[in-house]
Amino acid sequence: MLAELDRAVSDCRACPRLVDWRERVAREKRAAFADQEYWGRPVPGFGPPDARLLIVGLAPAAHGANRTGRMFTGDRSGDVLYAALHAVGLANQPTAVHKDDGLTLYGTRITSPVHCAPPENKPTPAERDACRHWLADELRLLTPTLRAVMVLGGFGWQALLPVLAEAGWTVPRPRPVFGHGAHVELAAAHPDRRPLHLLGCYHVSQQNTFTGRLTPDMLCTVLDNAAKLAGISQAG
Ligand code: SF4
Repeated sequence: MLAELDRAVSDCRACPRLVDWRERVAREKRAAFADQEYWGRPVPGFGPPDARLLIVGLAPAAHGANRTGRMFTGDRSGDVLYAALHAVGLANQPTAVHKDDGLTLYGTRITSPVHCAPPENKPTPAERDACRHWLADELRLLTPTLRAVMVLGGFGWQALLPVLAEAGWTVPRPRPVFGHGAHVELAAAHPDRRPLHLLGCYHVSQQNTFTGRLTPDMLCTVLDNAAKLAGISQAG
């Protein structure tokens, strides 16, 4: 069950550097959040277990998801992402502030290839590889309904391709190249799988959204396309 996987992810301590960092950040805190108790643990995926669309990011932010315990919740990247999800009818509200804020996603789940906040948002290749099995298990559990994956940024794209191959889809050679708006349909390599749409989108990092490299319109266009390819009935 996906809920069991989420619980198991939250208890993982496989990467010493990341365990040390996530817990240190949780102890030291940012001044603005000094009165809050940080999560300080791995952040599991968020969204229904029968999602048709999976959004894959990079890793939790130190003072965002590592503080609140929910993907993209409590930081500027999440502000942009959830506003767009709401705009295209995939979320019931445009904001994500804390775990109990009533946010619900429709047909959509959000996860990351690395579940612990890394220093400078940069996990090492060894940490990415250590975390891979969680993503592979998540994909397997979502298989009955999953029809599309939207990847935010090149790191997630590179991390995801081998997992997709391992989890039962055919990844073409040469490997599809990441880009904003990239779209490729992966054939099933296993009788239990259905073809899967893979879409690329620039990451919702402040580096991209503050500079205009990724605008809300650009994000909404890819999200809307992903939702339609996944066959989700969008609200609104
Ligand atoms: S990054 Fe992944 S594998 Fe490493 S400690 Fe966190 S949850 Fe475990």
